[in-house]
Amino acid sequence: MTTTRHKLFTPGPTPIPEQVMHLMNESIIHHRGHEFSRIFSRVSQDLKYLFQTEYDVLTLTTSGTGGMEAVVANLLCRSDRVLTVNAGKFGARWADICRAYGVDFIEIEKQWGHAVHPDEIVDYLKQYPKIKAVFLTHNETSTGVTIDLKSISEAIHANSDALVVVDCISAIGGIPLKMDAWNLDVVITASQKGLMLPPGLAFVALNDRGWKAAAKSDLPKFYLSLKAARDSLKKDSTPFTPATTIIRGLEAALSMIKEKTLERLWFEHQVFGDAVRAAIRALGLSLLSRQPSNALTAVIVPEQLSCKAIISGLEQNFGIIVSGGQGHLKDKIFRIGHIGFYDISDIIGIISALEIVLKSSGWQFEIGAGICSAQQILQQLSVRKQS
Ligand SMILES: *Cc1c(COP(=O)(O)O)cnc(C)c1O
Repeated sequence: MTTTRHKLFTPGPTPIPEQVMHLMNESIIHHRGHEFSRIFSRVSQDLKYLFQTEYDVLTLTTSGTGGMEAVVANLLCRSDRVLTVNAGKFGARWADICRAYGVDFIEIEKQWGHAVHPDEIVDYLKQYPKIKAVFLTHNETSTGVTIDLKSISEAIHANSDALVVVDCISAIGGIPLKMDAWNLDVVITASQKGLMLPPGLAFVALNDRGWKAAAKSDLPKFYLSLKAARDSLKKDSTPFTPATTIIRGLEAALSMIKEKTLERLWFEHQVFGDAVRAAIRALGLSLLSRQPSNALTAVIVPEQLSCKAIISGLEQNFGIIVSGGQGHLKDKIFRIGHIGFYDISDIIGIISALEIVLKSSGWQFEIGAGICSAQQILQQLSVRKQS
């Protein structure tokens, strides 16, 4: 038993607010009773606000990948060809799922850390005019890159009939997303990142074009049938036993988000992202991402330092958990998550702890340089609150 409090700074799962924990601690409810119907009806409405959509948002009991798989299985036909973008581990997952379902895909490969540009997608769509859907990752969690989703969606619709499908799992609640205004046909997210909940729920919304494609789909599905989920949603219910405990927490988490407003959350995440990036640069380190994300920051570890030592130094001395790199970036980068339930003192805490760990590893910089840069940016938050 250590005396240090455990603090997650990972891009999923993320810290859970106390009021959410309290609700999840209440005694278990039955999923066919009135109380559950009331909660499910309320969260399904509030999820529309989160997605910025008028369409139904379906709640599935599965991790985020289950939501992605549900979309492939429900949207596509065996004969379809789709476009995916591999700019990191999660973009590559779209191709993995398509492969598992025997769906033909063309994959745009980007160097990890780079963002796909709308013109590149349009070039492929012109070369392969029969593409049924483009599968995107709003925020690539393995590299800390956010794509320009609005422009990409506009470019796809202006140049093709392809559906725009987006994994927004590590973006929603922290990075601006407007499903209807941006004409996104399918949006997927999950519970354990910006929603400040435990892992276990995925959320999927389709617009009319998405449902039209779904009506023709001939791929196998049973547990992940979106039509079954939508039919049940009409009765404020789910086809199978849902994760009732997390759905209870969801009611509280969505209330918090509504109370704060998405605009304010997006602004706070912008400030946190700017502050962490400024600190990293002030410490003489560099970012992996060419188009950095406000959900997390991927930091390149210089040759002379050990990535493992930095990560374990943060954990052993401060109880702070950050993530390492994935795939070929293992031991090359570490990733600081700042999407979800974080505040100014959390951001100051992680930067300060990082400075102490870097100093003890022999990295040369003026102690306090990171904090100083971050504070200048973090001031924007308190100033705005008082005005
Ligand atoms: C976390 C994450 C997922 C889903 O992961 P699960 O472990 O299945 O919940 C998918 N895409 C992105 C971009 C993610 O960050």
